[in-house]
Amino acid sequence: MAARQADFTPIIDLLYAKGTGPIRAQRPIYADLLPPCNNACPAGENVQAWLGLAQAGKYHEAWNVILQDNPFPAVHGRVCYHSCEMRCNRGELDTAVSIHAVERFLGDLAAEQGWLPPEAAAPSGKRILVVGGGPSGLSAAYHLARHGHAVEIRDASPLPGGMLHFGIPAYRLPRDDLMKEVRRIEAMGVKITLNHKVEDVLTEQTDGRFDAVFIAVGAQIGKRVDIPARDAGHVIDAVTLLHHVQTGDPPRLGRRVIIYGGGNTAIDAARTARRLGAEEALIVYRRDRAHMPAQAFEADEALSEGIKIKWLSTIKEIGAGELTVEVMELDENGKPHPTGKFETLSDDSIILALGQETDSGFLRGVSGIVFKPDGTVIVDASMMTGRAGIFAGGDMVPSDRTVTTAVGHGKKAARHIDAWLRGHTQPAAVKHPVVEFAQLNLPIYADAPRSV
Ligand SMILES: Cc1cc2nc3c(=O)[nH]c(=O)nc-3n(C[C@H](O)[C@H](O)[C@H](O)COP(=O)(O)OP(=O)(O)OC[C@H]3O[C@@H](n4cnc5c(N)ncnc54)[C@H](O)[C@@H]3O)c2cc1C
Repeated sequence: MAARQADFTPIIDLLYAKGTGPIRAQRPIYADLLPPCNNACPAGENVQAWLGLAQAGKYHEAWNVILQDNPFPAVHGRVCYHSCEMRCNRGELDTAVSIHAVERFLGDLAAEQGWLPPEAAAPSGKRILVVGGGPSGLSAAYHLARHGHAVEIRDASPLPGGMLHFGIPAYRLPRDDLMKEVRRIEAMGVKITLNHKVEDVLTEQTDGRFDAVFIAVGAQIGKRVDIPARDAGHVIDAVTLLHHVQTGDPPRLGRRVIIYGGGNTAIDAARTARRLGAEEALIVYRRDRAHMPAQAFEADEALSEGIKIKWLSTIKEIGAGELTVEVMELDENGKPHPTGKFETLSDDSIILALGQETDSGFLRGVSGIVFKPDGTVIVDASMMTGRAGIFAGGDMVPSDRTVTTAVGHGKKAARHIDAWLRGHTQPAAVKHPVVEFAQLNLPIYADAPRSV
């Protein structure tokens, strides 16, 4: 990979040094450079290609280009954290191109028009079991089906989608939009078996005559912390709360709700508490705004809905109807330290939003599979676990925990599973050098306002 990048360097230097104008008449040099948006997309979308088609009004073609990498444009246009826009070269000039909004537009248009995914390859005769029907499992199933393999997803939940269905609140991702994209995968022939928790993966593989397995069971268990509690009856973890809300069985939270944590799940839990009728939803977070892991836009939306945040505070003790927090201070590295100063807050319920753990216990007996201390499963560059033919991805492997990363893992695993089944190794993708803002010849670009 390094050698390939080095090969391009003189070409880039030449392009940069030459610029445009009188040199036009000289023999052109063609170089494949990677736009930073494409490079930043965990699903590996060819952003610049589909944006170009969309700009030309070729919406169906644009959607087809997205579908080569990602079967969920409408979902991503709503919940992807769009790291593409953060790296967009246009942002250096004024503001990033609205990639996220255009993706949503194309996803919604596809649903409206009933566009179908590209045709699958001829049947390969191979069978693959996918354990877990969240974004990672669904993405793997979609790509495997495109390769011509027969795929069955088995999922413990009553509906497919994983955290898209039972975590992310419906006000951010309407379930109808999600299900239209899931149904399209089913229509390709992927079988989804629900309410089926896989406990013994090897037996299921043998009994079902599956040639390979992709496991994507996510991180579904809300982390608990050791806080002395005189009354733990009014404490609930955020994923359990959101799950109950989705299944139509929301708990009574009361008037004043405290949410403990600083990530996106804390924000979702706080906004959900307000929607369940809480008059006050107060997030208690141990660091400050600059060090909050939640996406800035999510925190802004929560604040604009009246959610309050108590910065630099940790919960030390939970009593009956009240809790004690200790004020923290940050060192120069942003690490919080206790100050010995305490405050008491009153509450009707407490929601713990301190991250999730993966429930990988059912794989402990499978020889070859290696775990990290936190329960995540180690995979190699092909997403294969230490057990030949068993691959894994999404939240259950060590990586960023986002929908787009999970979808990217599904795609990558599918390509490697396909190659493995055919007795090949998937060659490493050619990665072209990223073109930076300073390398662009700006005069050749026309101005256009940002579309929203
Ligand atoms: C509240 C919340 C909000 C979030 N918001 C965003 C967001 O806005 N944007 C974003 O990018 N990311 C967000 N995330 C993170 C994102 O949802 C996850 O990274 C993503 O869903 C991981 O996908 P996955 O397929 O690996 O696992 P999951 O989505 O967790 O799916 C795993 C599936 O496996 C099934 N399963 C589990 N065990 C078994 C078993 N033994 N047998 C069979 N099936 C099993 C489960 O039922 C589930 O359907 C959010 C997460 C949470 C909790």
